[in-house]
Amino acid sequence: MLNIVLFGPPGAGKGTQSQKLITHYNLVHLSTGDLLRAQIAQGTELGLTAKKLMDEGLLVPDSVVIGMIDSALSTNPTASGFIFDGFPRTVAQAQSLDDLLARHEATIGCMIALEVVEEELVARLLERGKTSNRPDDQNEEKIRRRVHVYNTETAQVASYYAAQNKFHSLNGIGEIDEIFEQITQLIDKAC
Ligand code: ADP
Repeated sequence: MLNIVLFGPPGAGKGTQSQKLITHYNLVHLSTGDLLRAQIAQGTELGLTAKKLMDEGLLVPDSVVIGMIDSALSTNPTASGFIFDGFPRTVAQAQSLDDLLARHEATIGCMIALEVVEEELVARLLERGKTSNRPDDQNEEKIRRRVHVYNTETAQVASYYAAQNKFHSLNGIGEIDEIFEQITQLIDKAC
């Protein structure tokens, strides 16, 4: 099994690169943001609660996203591996992910972080907000709050994987295909 955590701030390009990686390596894409937006679209109670937090640029509770990942792992028993996108976002989530994978006799191969400076992130997300219909992409203050939440609550997840010698990072600014090429070289060498 090839299990990869794609890491980086909102707007770093995780979703874009995930799409290319799942085709290249035949993996299942697990984006907690996408799973939460699906709950919102279905109008579930979980979705209603999550929407308020997401629209404000805040994290939803660990128990919610961990539960979603738990069921996604169980509904894909034959997967040859997973790309985790937007998860784990806290150290507690990272610990739970290790526990969940252990139950399936699997581990994370590596974390790959895309580095992008804040001004570029804000510009990208405002641009995406013009067509994405995502309320959290349409207001600069909310975008900056998401970047702030990343810096204060999520960035430390990198240390969790660094302590296991699984952390790798690369520049997320440049041509999409060139960045993809660098990611695959890193995966083939180090994951
Ligand atoms: P982005 O990376 O552009 O912020 P995502 O789709 O990954 O977009 O996430 C959108 C929102 O969904 C986050 O701001 C947060 O409110 C919520 N969310 C997604 N994943 C998680 C997670 N693992 N833990 C807590 N909240 C999450």
